[in-house]
Amino acid sequence: MRRLAPDHKTIADYRRENGAAIIGACRAFVLFCRDQGLFKAQLVAIDGAKFRAAASTNRVLDKQRIAEEIEKIEKQIAQYLSGLDETDALEPAENKGAAANALSALKNRRAQLDRLLEHLDRDDRHLVVDGEPDSRPMGFGKGGKPPSYNVQIAVDADTGIIVHHDVTDEVNDQRMLHPMAKAAKETLGLDALTVVADTGYSSGNEAAACEADAITAYVPAKRSVNNQGTGDQFDRSSFAYNAEQDQFTCPADRILRRKGPVTRNAFNYVSQDCSGCDLKARCTQAERRWVSRHQHEDALERMSARVKENPGMMRKRRCSAEHPFGTIKRMMSGRFLTRGIKGTSTEMALSVLAFNLIRSTNLKALAR
Ligand code: SF4
Repeated sequence: MRRLAPDHKTIADYRRENGAAIIGACRAFVLFCRDQGLFKAQLVAIDGAKFRAAASTNRVLDKQRIAEEIEKIEKQIAQYLSGLDETDALEPAENKGAAANALSALKNRRAQLDRLLEHLDRDDRHLVVDGEPDSRPMGFGKGGKPPSYNVQIAVDADTGIIVHHDVTDEVNDQRMLHPMAKAAKETLGLDALTVVADTGYSSGNEAAACEADAITAYVPAKRSVNNQGTGDQFDRSSFAYNAEQDQFTCPADRILRRKGPVTRNAFNYVSQDCSGCDLKARCTQAERRWVSRHQHEDALERMSARVKENPGMMRKRRCSAEHPFGTIKRMMSGRFLTRGIKGTSTEMALSVLAFNLIRSTNLKALAR
């Protein structure tokens, strides 16, 4: 081998130069498992988890912070240029070289900031991560939102093998149910599929898209917050919807009719007359009460009704979808080492391939 040995960059270079092949190997192993009959393919559990990107929270910038830095850099460039003119004749040659380098570094940084601004405008975002613009600040609660990627997996619930995965920049799971379920259905080569996911995936659009693609989804409804007045006024659930007449009946037995076209995926309904109502103090501070209904509310209701009829589904989801993430997060220390969607997708494909190899080997060992 002529003393050939890996150095600190060997694995990183291999991963960078062979991204497509690594992703292909991960996919090929899933198809191999399918062809070997390893999947039960009766239920697929979908789940998502945030993985930290290789960038610190301090590198999250908005337009104002970028503008402030540009202003500072332009002042520094102007100072350097005027200083260079004055000292041109006096300074020794090596000092001039150092000044030119500093000037060039400032100009490079200025160009980088321009690219970040373009990124913000192009993707219509408020925040961008300096040095890792494919990632996005994600997370809940107080404190900073660290730059992260949202990793999605679809797991064969009976065997625990990952059927499909994806690295995305979606800040939540609301738009991921249908794409993940559809990809899993295609990989498994099925005409119809049953999937289960947690409340974060609850969405009328996704429920309707799943129904249209012969995917039966079990996703609990997101409990809505009562944001009427002080929070103790009637919320949406106090209004009964009549599908035949496409209208609501309020707690005082009066009618709310649909008004105008769909806006932000929902239709709005308004009471015809709230005058003289004894319940008005508990209903609205406006002249009339408005209620909205998602354009695919029927599909959403059918989806959450299935969960109510089969509460065991959520236990199955927990047992199957959360285990792979636990193992993969331990393998990767919960964060990516690579940057950009291309690098992180390769890194995740390696981890999923490793997980599936271990899982399928264990299954074979158990079956002996
Ligand atoms: S305020 Fe209007 S919508 Fe509310 S209960 Fe009374 S009549 Fe019905």
